[in-house]
Amino acid sequence: MNPVVYKACRDFDYDGTRVLDILREVQSGLGCISGETMEMLAKELSTHRVEIEGLVSFYSFFSEKPKGKIAIRLCDDIIDRFAGVSKVAKVFSDELGIEMGKTSPDGIFSLEYTPCIGMSDQAPSALINQTVVTKLTPQSARTIARKLKKNPETSELLTRKGDGNNACLQINAMVKNNIRVRGEVLLCEGIPAEAGLKKALKRKEDAVIQEIRASGLRGRGGAGFSTGLKWDLARRETARERYVICNADEGEPGTFKDRVLLTERTDLMFEGMTIAARAIGSRKGILYVRAEYTYLLPYLEHVLKKRRKRGLLGRNIAGKKGFAFDIRIQLGAGAYICGEESSLISSCEGLRGEPKNRPPFPAEKGFLGYPTIVNNVETFCCAARILDGGAPWFAGIGTDESAGTKLLSVAGDCARPGIYEVPFGIEVSEVLDMAGADDPAIVQIGGASGDMIGRTAFHKKICYEDLPTGGSFMTFNSTRNVLGIVDYFLEFFIHESCGYCTPCRVGNVFLRERIQKIKSGLAEEADLHYLIELSNTIMMTSRCGLGHTSPRPVLSSIAHFPIVYASLTRELTDGRQASFDIQKALEESRRIAKRQSMIYDPIYGESTD
Ligand code: SF4
Repeated sequence: MNPVVYKACRDFDYDGTRVLDILREVQSGLGCISGETMEMLAKELSTHRVEIEGLVSFYSFFSEKPKGKIAIRLCDDIIDRFAGVSKVAKVFSDELGIEMGKTSPDGIFSLEYTPCIGMSDQAPSALINQTVVTKLTPQSARTIARKLKKNPETSELLTRKGDGNNACLQINAMVKNNIRVRGEVLLCEGIPAEAGLKKALKRKEDAVIQEIRASGLRGRGGAGFSTGLKWDLARRETARERYVICNADEGEPGTFKDRVLLTERTDLMFEGMTIAARAIGSRKGILYVRAEYTYLLPYLEHVLKKRRKRGLLGRNIAGKKGFAFDIRIQLGAGAYICGEESSLISSCEGLRGEPKNRPPFPAEKGFLGYPTIVNNVETFCCAARILDGGAPWFAGIGTDESAGTKLLSVAGDCARPGIYEVPFGIEVSEVLDMAGADDPAIVQIGGASGDMIGRTAFHKKICYEDLPTGGSFMTFNSTRNVLGIVDYFLEFFIHESCGYCTPCRVGNVFLRERIQKIKSGLAEEADLHYLIELSNTIMMTSRCGLGHTSPRPVLSSIAHFPIVYASLTRELTDGRQASFDIQKALEESRRIAKRQSMIYDPIYGESTD
């Protein structure tokens, strides 16, 4: 038995739900998880090799082939591409003598691209093993490569410290928080410690849920489901256990606001989880952190330890007899789909992060079959603030259907990228002004799965009634190519689709082919109809949120940039210019809508029932 495999299994008590942690330890100790290692793991964990193989092939941070001792992963999101990551990649490649996607013959270095690592406000960026390096230039890349060749120690790479807790002993990263606007809910100074929890413990469980419901708090991940209702559903289930899971897997390209909350509002997030546990009657919680944020792990563990010491986790929390709750951290392993709540639950269970069929919903049957609430970091932070400030205070901020503030991760072509805590209802143009975007032409709201809008829609408001977003706000100036951005998003979804259902696995490939045809100037009117019809089919027939939203950049760009599409039509053979009749195409879309119960209307924007 290989001692690394043996130790990893022992460290996690041979627990089948902790296979991801075991694989992470093995990957880090052996540089890969080979077929032979899989056999050993399967034997030790009393499972089949095919199960282990399924996990290794699913998560991008695991590899069957050896990776370099130093794994350099360059962030390849659209913001980094525009910020010049390809030039940085070329320098690394030249200096280390390896091509992208390859490992050096001596096994020291591997070099590859990776999807958004949550640093779009300081692009281009990279992960070098677990160390984050930001604001890369060809010059700094050369310096890093030469340093690593002399001494392959990533701790030597820190040339500057980040701000706030990024500079503390447990994080010690060059990451900047880039907090630009502090609103009155989450980022304001002087938030009283544990005030929400203390008030929650003085009230009955139902009253806590009632307070959350009355506040109008909706999930901050983008879908906007009522948080109080979700808690209520879980509480009403009869079960031996109930679970509270915090989703810190913000993989949506361009989003990084949870990174800042994890760093600067860590106690508030754990306080919110503890309040939720009290409300639904849970004893166990899980914080699911994306692998790209592994650099935060020692700090998060440190805060949990301190909370246990202070009696804020464990038994008789804050002196409340009989109230017991504790939290463990689950690290992801590189899979965008795990941001979807049922996939995230699968991942917590030690499975491939594939979505589960619904119903039953997680609030009824979630983690290991028990009622489970999954909320994201921002939602739990808001819940703690609501218990302190009261529902009327929170409901008084924002709009009728979107109470409170929203954290926006603003990135792209602007002078001040970073975190903006704004009241719901703020206009896109106001955000652009604050961020110093002096030539904004395209804004992508809500990440790859959100909507692309142009100048004529900058009066729209950020809120569930108008433009919902989980937090990503990418701005592009007039030199950027609309279809190039759409093409990138489709490439992203093709890469991240779990492949379970055909419309998503194949449909996104077909969408991309057609977008590339239009981009190359070979399009005809029929191509637009094809894009609309196929997009709606994918949204209608896919199994999970990824397929339900992946065509949105296609449809919203058609709606908001019709001239771009029309200008890319080719000359017909008889010399006439074919042109897209956008209204005719949209009529076609509406015709399809009548045949189907739920469809995305590219003009009116939202899915309708
Ligand atoms: Fe997987 Fe895509 Fe189907 Fe979701 S929609 S289950 S990601 S193939």
